[in-house]
Amino acid sequence: MVAFIVSPIAPEIAEIVRTTRLAPEYGHPVHEELARGTGPCRECLRAFTVGAERRLLFTHSPFTGTSVLAQPGPVFIHADACVRHDGTGYPDGLQSIPVVAQVYHEDGTIAEPRRLPPGAESAVLAGLLAEPRVRFAHLRHAEAGCFIARAERVAM
Ligand SMILES: [Zn+2]
Repeated sequence: MVAFIVSPIAPEIAEIVRTTRLAPEYGHPVHEELARGTGPCRECLRAFTVGAERRLLFTHSPFTGTSVLAQPGPVFIHADACVRHDGTGYPDGLQSIPVVAQVYHEDGTIAEPRRLPPGAESAVLAGLLAEPRVRFAHLRHAEAGCFIARAERVAM
């Protein structure tokens, strides 16, 4: 099985959001609330505890500086500093979240979004990323559609 990493948003972005309360590159005010949904947090890649944890909502582009079409959208992070997800493979914290993978090819074309079946997320994602023409995949919430994280192959 191909090895891959799932990368959260850059730590600098989370830092700017928490300190300035403005969305980096957009300037929209950040909205703070008690979690009304599971998210997940785009930094630690874990589901929010509904009604218990505070979260920040802001506008984010997964393509800033790398694509003609930036596709900005709403994302959440924990209001308080959390431990950024690290390591290879599918994050444990995303197991409870419905996720689709959107695959981007080396030639710039995009594949149909593919639902990652519960319990087989890692195997299916590894299979998608094993294709040589695949450059990376974006993981998005299967119901809300918003960007969660970026997945790509790594050499082991
Ligand atoms: Zn977090």
